[in-house]
Amino acid sequence: MRLEGKVAVITGAASGIGRATAERFVEEGASVIVGDIQRELGEELSKQMGGSATFKFCDVTEEKDVKELMESAVSTYGSLDIVMNNAGIVGSRGPISSTDASEFKATLDILLYGTFLGIKHAAPHMERQKSGSIINIASTAGVTGGLGPHVYAAAKHGVVGLTKNVAAELCRSGIRVNCIAPGSTVTPLVAAAYMDDHEALEEVSEIVRAKSPILNRPGIPIDVANAALYLASDESGNTNGHCLVVDGGLTTGSTPNDPPHSDSMPFLREAGQHGL
Ligand code: NAP
Repeated sequence: MRLEGKVAVITGAASGIGRATAERFVEEGASVIVGDIQRELGEELSKQMGGSATFKFCDVTEEKDVKELMESAVSTYGSLDIVMNNAGIVGSRGPISSTDASEFKATLDILLYGTFLGIKHAAPHMERQKSGSIINIASTAGVTGGLGPHVYAAAKHGVVGLTKNVAAELCRSGIRVNCIAPGSTVTPLVAAAYMDDHEALEEVSEIVRAKSPILNRPGIPIDVANAALYLASDESGNTNGHCLVVDGGLTTGSTPNDPPHSDSMPFLREAGQHGL
């Protein structure tokens, strides 16, 4: 029971990574406000988790919705200890010269402005309590280039930057702000991106498995949920402004077809010969 008595808000919690995290947090003793634009799925999830979860409609691009979402944690369960700003889409894709300007702005609104609103409206509650953990969901596309569409990468780099800057401010109030950068993870978002069908989870699992540097191991939502559990819990009490990459090693430069390190990196082979 690593989150016993804690109250969490998770945006985009009706599906994928957010849903797995809501389930994991409840298993560990938390109460969760499930915020999402998917009303039916969100209500079904909160029903499944009994009194430990409550669905509240929230469009993260609407300031009023986000403010009320944070307030609902306090009015329903008595405090606001953890916020995970997770809602997202892939958004505008394609070459830069043909990227539509209004689609670019609309994608930024969900991924970056929505994260800003989540932090802004969580902070006053946590400042009153003098404690809290804010977790923003970035992406490997937010820590290196070439791993996602242009606006997605720009927004996720923004999420990483905002995390670090706000962490430097809010730590004085006992609030920690960290982010997670997942690599490809089998969710409806990725199924829609690769297969144009958000229900094609089995097929997309094969694609993600084949692209993963770790042998026969696709990234799955529970991997990110477990990382979030660490950042949400008191175990990470001295971890602040950190970006936790959960990508099977992709951003180290490893690919599934690389030769073993000992073959490709002579200094490692020598280290091995010296028994290091
Ligand atoms: P998902 O399964 O599609 O879940 C995202 C949820 O957010 C959906 O229910 C979605 O509803 C909802 N949402 C979209 N726009 C919203 C808005 N304006 N306000 C509130 N909710 C909204 O996707 P996921 O893969 O779990 O993604 C969760 C987060 O992880 C995103 O920030 C994503 O960028 C990030 N991420 C994912 C991966 C990956 O490989 N899956 C990798 C790196 C980072 P709709 O379905 O109706 O849009």
